[in-house]
Amino acid sequence: MTPTNAYAAPAAGAALAPFQFNRRNTGPNDVKIEILYCGVCHSDIHQVKDEWGGSIFPMVPGHEIVGRIIETGSNVTNFKVGDLAGIGCFVDSCRTCPSCAAGEEQYCDEGMTGTYNSYERDGRTPTYGGYSTHIVVDEKYTLHISDKLPLEAVAPLLCAGITTYSPLRHWKVGKGSKVAIVGLGGLGHMGVKFAASFGAEVTVISTSAGKEDDARKLGAHHFAVSKDSAQMRKLRGEFDFILDTVSAEHNYNDYLQLLKLNGTMVVVGIPEHPSTVNAFNVIGKRRSLAGSMIGGIRETQEMLIYCAEHGITSDIELINIDQINEAYERMLKNDVRYRFVIDIASLNKA
Ligand code: NAP
Ligand code: ZN
Repeated sequence: MTPTNAYAAPAAGAALAPFQFNRRNTGPNDVKIEILYCGVCHSDIHQVKDEWGGSIFPMVPGHEIVGRIIETGSNVTNFKVGDLAGIGCFVDSCRTCPSCAAGEEQYCDEGMTGTYNSYERDGRTPTYGGYSTHIVVDEKYTLHISDKLPLEAVAPLLCAGITTYSPLRHWKVGKGSKVAIVGLGGLGHMGVKFAASFGAEVTVISTSAGKEDDARKLGAHHFAVSKDSAQMRKLRGEFDFILDTVSAEHNYNDYLQLLKLNGTMVVVGIPEHPSTVNAFNVIGKRRSLAGSMIGGIRETQEMLIYCAEHGITSDIELINIDQINEAYERMLKNDVRYRFVIDIASLNKA
């Protein structure tokens, strides 16, 4: 067992506070990672506040993990001590269902084992995430991380990166595509970088007029404020593809109307409450409303390689662990540019 320092939410909506637990011994197929950085995803906030139901406490959030391997099990062939490694949103799955066989483990028929707020395959051992000093994970669910990019800015790729990369690839966004990214936060700013890098013409649709300069620096060609109905009216029928990254309640119909014939809007944001769709907004131009969840191990590795080759990382604000509750408050006010990342060295001092 490895004694592990962490920060945990003791109960729904409670502030995060220091917490200690033991990581399992490194099994034959496992790697033990000393965590260096962990990104802060809005999903951490939804789950700490139990907005999706079924949260497990105490909860150690964190699924954008980058660190260094300090021990390997006897069967491990893909990693060695000293390698950089990443862990994303899941640490296991059934490994046999069609989704797992296809390398889309996030859609496992039995449900993926979340990196935190989940149970191991035994159904009773809670998983604890990356706001912690160490993690032990099967090598099959561990990613290789390049040493070419600043590690702290790579961490958010493990969730915000793959969650935006995967649908852009699946729906073949590229040269000639007119794309809107709705919401310029952690996911949204990665969506802009990828869509622009793939050659699309990108518009950011935001509630925050003050983010226009940033949007353009991130690679967007156009910017619109969603609260401005005249601007929104002008964009009707404009887009082939819309990526909706919004974390809070909003009206899907306002955005569906912006799709052109056969256009698709993909929802990745997961607000607490359901939304209503007016049938006219999908039948009118044979539009599609779809969703997408993170990405499988194979595609996550592909995305990490793409980022290393193209110099793509997240724009981050590095924080110490004792700033985590304040970081949550700021994210709820859309005041993050554009991802908080925890320097896990601060946990050893906490
Ligand atoms: P974030 O950094 O907090 O960004 C969310 C952005 O949404 C905000 O910056 C804001 O952008 C916009 N927004 C907030 N309230 C809004 C409102 N009422 N109406 C319209 N826009 C609003 O969050 P994140 O980490 O990117 O996560 C975004 C969502 O994706 C969360 O719900 C998270 O749980 C979910 N998620 C899903 C997956 C998946 O696999 N599908 C993976 C990770 C996260 P503007 O200031 O530009 O308006
Ligand atoms: Zn996430």
